[in-house]
Amino acid sequence: MSLTHVPVAPVPPERFMEILGPQQADEFRDTIRRGLELLDSRVIWNVNSTAQGGGVAEMLASLLAYTRGAGLDARWVVTGGDPSFYRVTKRIHNMLHGFPGDGRGLDEKDLDVYDRTTEENARELVPLISPGDIVLLHDPQTAGLIGPVRDAGAHVVWRCHIGVDTANDHGRAAWDFLLPHVRGAEALVFTREAHIWDGLDRSRVTLIPPSIDAFSAKNQEMRDAVVNAILCKARLQPGHPAEPPVFVRRDGSPGRVDRPATRAGSHPLPAGVQALIQVSRWDRLKDPEGVLEAFASHVAPRSDAHLVLAGPSTEAVADDPEGAEVLSEVGRLRASLPRSVGDRVHLFSLPMEDVAENGAIVNAIQRRADVIAQKSVAEGFGLTVAEAMWKARPVVAGAVGGIREQVIDGETGFLVDPLDLEAFAAAALELLGDPERAIAMGARAREEVRERYLGPRHLRQYVELFERLLGAGAGEP
Ligand code: UDP
Repeated sequence: MSLTHVPVAPVPPERFMEILGPQQADEFRDTIRRGLELLDSRVIWNVNSTAQGGGVAEMLASLLAYTRGAGLDARWVVTGGDPSFYRVTKRIHNMLHGFPGDGRGLDEKDLDVYDRTTEENARELVPLISPGDIVLLHDPQTAGLIGPVRDAGAHVVWRCHIGVDTANDHGRAAWDFLLPHVRGAEALVFTREAHIWDGLDRSRVTLIPPSIDAFSAKNQEMRDAVVNAILCKARLQPGHPAEPPVFVRRDGSPGRVDRPATRAGSHPLPAGVQALIQVSRWDRLKDPEGVLEAFASHVAPRSDAHLVLAGPSTEAVADDPEGAEVLSEVGRLRASLPRSVGDRVHLFSLPMEDVAENGAIVNAIQRRADVIAQKSVAEGFGLTVAEAMWKARPVVAGAVGGIREQVIDGETGFLVDPLDLEAFAAAALELLGDPERAIAMGARAREEVRERYLGPRHLRQYVELFERLLGAGAGEP
């Protein structure tokens, strides 16, 4: 086991000016100026447990690129761990979402596993840190590092990207497990008010919602012909690419989709059919089985639409042992459907060797959608929801957690009770049956993201937090 340094190429933050309104652009220039003044020679470390797969890795890749582009020394390291550590942290993850996970609860043995891995990671991380550095630790896998990093003289911020509206006993048990560590952080960041744990010093808590990168391979503009070419090249649509399946990498260099996706026994998505699409990790909390059931029972009999469930190749996401299991369950469910319906269900596992290539495929799939689904049963904040909205697609989403603030029900999409399969299907059918309304909702959705969920707002909130942290002693370590 060892720490991995994730290299991040700098990207000039001035790129944002082309998509920001004049007032937003002025604010962003001010953010950059303040950040440079404040942080100067300090290193801003980001520590999490995976370099790819999932929302946190996605955001770090983007925010670090612009921070480095602005001239700051922001770095990213990924902690190590063995399967027993990930079993414990996956359980904690599920419990913070209010679910039992594998149901084993958390006991002394788990504490041992957690502490042992934490000590090993700390041994490698601490020597890299200088007094006065800022260390942003992300999510439960890194909470144990708070003490060692603080003792090294750094300013420690722990950010929890997970949470639920109302904590239950599972959530509280996970808090109890982590609180002894978390209390030691100088600042704590949560996504939403509802996620803040009991027992924390409120004066240390800051709320910062996530953001998406408008220029990443995943979210950049993409012509329809390129969407088709990428889908064909990845073997997700029949036929051969009519033009090169290309995209632009974050550093401005050209990228091309080369690797095929796999389809878990399902067919490619025919060109020209209507598509309801959910892109998510293969995770029970995203409820791909529920989406499939709702489609099979209620959407398929009333429309000609097809369903796509797409997610990362399950070998690739090292800290998520459930992925392969969930995908095979969904595959079995599809295989059990009558052929006329099963043939309209497509399960796409996307190559993850090259994060940008994967992003370009996600981009093409989301743009291929007439309606995007995100029927999560729990969600701190749905990055996939923001990504779909930025692409001007209407979303039918579970009315849970942060999604409720992201989607304005009836205006930028529909919010439904995720356990009510009929309600989910009815909302999807309404949009599939009224393309004009779907387009109008999509257009509003894009404006909402421009205002609230792009990098400049996110970076501004970080700079404001660091100003508070360094406040009186700015300039001194
Ligand atoms: N994602 C991806 N490739 C895939 C499937 C998903 O890059 O094959 C991305 C997705 O586009 C989004 C992130 O993984 O950016 C998932 O973030 P979200 O907040 O929706 O859920 P999380 O995985 O963090 O629970």
